[in-house]
Amino acid sequence: MKHYHYIFAGSGLSALMTVYEMIISGTFENKSILLIDSDSKKTNDRTWCFWDENQAFDSIVSKKWKSALFADTEFQRELNLHPYQYKMIRGSDFYKLIFDVISKQLNIHFVNQKVLDFQELGNHCVVKTEAQSFTCNTVINSIFYAESANNQTTYPFLHQHFIGWFIKSKEAVFNSNCATFMDFSVEQKGNTRFMYVLPTSETEALIEYTLFSKNLLAKEEYETEIQKYIQKLGITDYEIIEKEQGNIPMTAYPFWERNTKNIVNIGSAGGWTKASTGYTFKNTIKKSKALVKFLNTGNDFRKFHKKDKFWFYDLLFLDVLNKRNDLGHKVFSALFQKGNPALIFKFLDEETTLSEDLQVIWKCPKGLFIRALFARTFTL
Ligand SMILES: Cc1cc2nc3c(=O)[nH]c(=O)nc-3n(C[C@H](O)[C@H](O)[C@H](O)COP(=O)(O)OP(=O)(O)OC[C@H]3O[C@@H](n4cnc5c(N)ncnc54)[C@H](O)[C@@H]3O)c2cc1C
Repeated sequence: MKHYHYIFAGSGLSALMTVYEMIISGTFENKSILLIDSDSKKTNDRTWCFWDENQAFDSIVSKKWKSALFADTEFQRELNLHPYQYKMIRGSDFYKLIFDVISKQLNIHFVNQKVLDFQELGNHCVVKTEAQSFTCNTVINSIFYAESANNQTTYPFLHQHFIGWFIKSKEAVFNSNCATFMDFSVEQKGNTRFMYVLPTSETEALIEYTLFSKNLLAKEEYETEIQKYIQKLGITDYEIIEKEQGNIPMTAYPFWERNTKNIVNIGSAGGWTKASTGYTFKNTIKKSKALVKFLNTGNDFRKFHKKDKFWFYDLLFLDVLNKRNDLGHKVFSALFQKGNPALIFKFLDEETTLSEDLQVIWKCPKGLFIRALFARTFTL
């Protein structure tokens, strides 16, 4: 059995960012690293967007917006995002960038195989794929196993689920300087449902019908809503260039408690997805840096996490969404109708002080959150 220092089970966003950080740290050149993924990571399987005030991955950012629209049935507001910009990265560009760097490293290998199992056996770990088995000192896992979060009732488990069509219309209908962040003017049908529009030119945009809810829909329902929205935008002649779909976990379930001494869970599987929004890209930039720093200490992964106030805010927010899924639009509208966009994004980035937190939280419907807080007082 071939032995490695580190094996990555799953080689998507979080694994590739972590490997990238390991490479640029220059401290792992004498460590052998194996990346395993059941997918070859060559297709554009997703589009990532995130707000950013730095130059993170700028060489592969395909579109940037300085403003974003928020809408509900009763109002619309164009948010000036300064000092942030909302940025788009195509999955395929990200994979290519990182695999090009990896291909120059003699100590890092990739195999396109499906992982069946991995476990810790004393001081080493065994990873079994469909084709072979490997041993290693450390497993860095990003394969998402939903069972543990599903089979508990302490933390609500919602999904951010969506289908998106990247369309090209004949008419020039889009304002390519402004992304539609959330448009809640669509029928809510007892859930939190909105449209998300990312125009890349006056004739091209990614249009996604998105829900934050417990249950997924049949494919036709998302697509019918996209068609209705396209009609509402006045588009009569268009072609679909690409489609994407996703189901992102929204839960404050502490995934990191499944870490062992030598196995660490990362990405969505490690709780790196922001529970209240489903955003993962930005968090992964930060967490992968923190993990690489931690790896350099050679420590026990059961210590790689701490709960903080933001975890608790997300938990309360999910309690509210779980109980009153029909009122999700009211919470977001309350935040974005008059709130300071830069402060809200800073809050979502978990970089605000307590007094800034209160400025954001104060805008939320108080009754809902006080009831959620009261209920939590007796369950944690
Ligand atoms: C379509 C889509 C759009 C998204 N858009 C955004 C966005 O705009 N902004 C944002 O912040 N987040 C977004 N997300 C959420 C999040 O950023 C992504 O899901 C991100 O890829 C999560 O990173 P990860 O490393 O946890 O998982 P992944 O990137 O999914 O990596 C896990 C890897 O494990 C592999 N794998 C799974 N099972 C096995 C197995 N048994 N054996 C071997 N390999 C296996 C998969 O092929 C995959 O490559 C989006 C998600 C999706 C699906």
